[in-house]
Amino acid sequence: GSRFQVVQQGPPIEVFQLNRMFLDDPQPNKINLSIGAYRDDNGKPWVLPVVRKMEKQMADDETLLHEYLPVLGLEQFTTLSTSMLLGQDSPAVAAGRAFGVQTLSGTGSLRVGAELLNKHLKYTTFYYSAPTWENHHLVFMNAGFTSPRTYRYWNAKTRSIDFDGLIEDLRAAPENSVVLLHACAHNPTGIDPTQEQWEKIADVMEERKLFPFFDSAYQGFASGDLDRDAWAVRYFVKRGFELICAQSYAKNFGLYNERVGNLACVISDASLVPAMKSQLTWIVRGMYSSPPAHGARVVANVLANKQLYDEWREHIKGMSARVIQMREALRAELIKLGTPGSWEHIVKQIGLFSYTGLTQRQSEHLVQEYHIYLLKSGRINMCGLNPSNVQYMAKAMHEAVL
Ligand code: PMP
Repeated sequence: GSRFQVVQQGPPIEVFQLNRMFLDDPQPNKINLSIGAYRDDNGKPWVLPVVRKMEKQMADDETLLHEYLPVLGLEQFTTLSTSMLLGQDSPAVAAGRAFGVQTLSGTGSLRVGAELLNKHLKYTTFYYSAPTWENHHLVFMNAGFTSPRTYRYWNAKTRSIDFDGLIEDLRAAPENSVVLLHACAHNPTGIDPTQEQWEKIADVMEERKLFPFFDSAYQGFASGDLDRDAWAVRYFVKRGFELICAQSYAKNFGLYNERVGNLACVISDASLVPAMKSQLTWIVRGMYSSPPAHGARVVANVLANKQLYDEWREHIKGMSARVIQMREALRAELIKLGTPGSWEHIVKQIGLFSYTGLTQRQSEHLVQEYHIYLLKSGRINMCGLNPSNVQYMAKAMHEAVL
């Protein structure tokens, strides 16, 4: 017998399972609305032209070697990334109290950040929105946190934020709880707090001495503008909070499999930066030793060059505009069909996703009967829609809700 007999089959990861089912499905009119990746007007994955250009240039650059990066990554990348988040004129950056650590995309950032807070600050309680990205819970638990809690976020009836619930839950949080906040384009609901609401969230967090851990996986996708999408993080920094933020370049650079991320840290005392970096070095050393170079070089080279940076901003504008067009197209089709219910929320929501309000039964019905793959929560990736399939989608939704 094998000593591995003790190992039992675990549950599947819903989003990857749906993606697999989609790929295996021979139906020509199938639609993939599951995984959060950008698709162009023809339903195809899109390599950003500025990325392609940079990769071609890098391929011929014989000064680029495959030597190890430092444990905390490529310094040019972490510096540029931290400024991209906090703003070119950020006083925290100027004062030397902000720095970054290159990580394995957004997920790796969350993990390294959570481990720092647990191992060194001894924080054990973390709060995440109900609902949130389904991996937050696992990442924090694996990093050593023991008390997971949720704060109210989504009001299914009004299809908006349950703001009173959110504030009440944060008010009741014990001191030093870590509060996970989506920097913008909340996944899965597509609804962000207003600036006024962020101010109230900051008030409560200050009063209750809670620690803000921002997750920024979609900078640029909420408004089409990188600076506007960083407003909440910058506001908390301006208010004097110490915070950390997990930045992912999976979506806004289309570098999903390159695992490019930055853990941006803002602390109140610049003299503590060396100690912080030293302990982060040991955390990374014991986990994966050092990060990969290719994607970080691509991002750093683009962020460092004004012309390429502007090109990238244009790509982001284009991607977010296409998502908005699809929101409008889907709503228009549903109205044309006279589908019962209000579909305003589809155009009000922002970012890649729409939390459609379809029930689990209706969502599963779309998978089984229509070959339209979406999460059972009713979340759809808007980019899976394009001018050739939006009508089919609306018809399927129409029949599912009747
Ligand atoms: N946070 C949120 C809210 C996300 O949606 C994602 C991507 N699905 C991530 C973090 C991390 O993704 P990655 O590790 O690919 O950067």
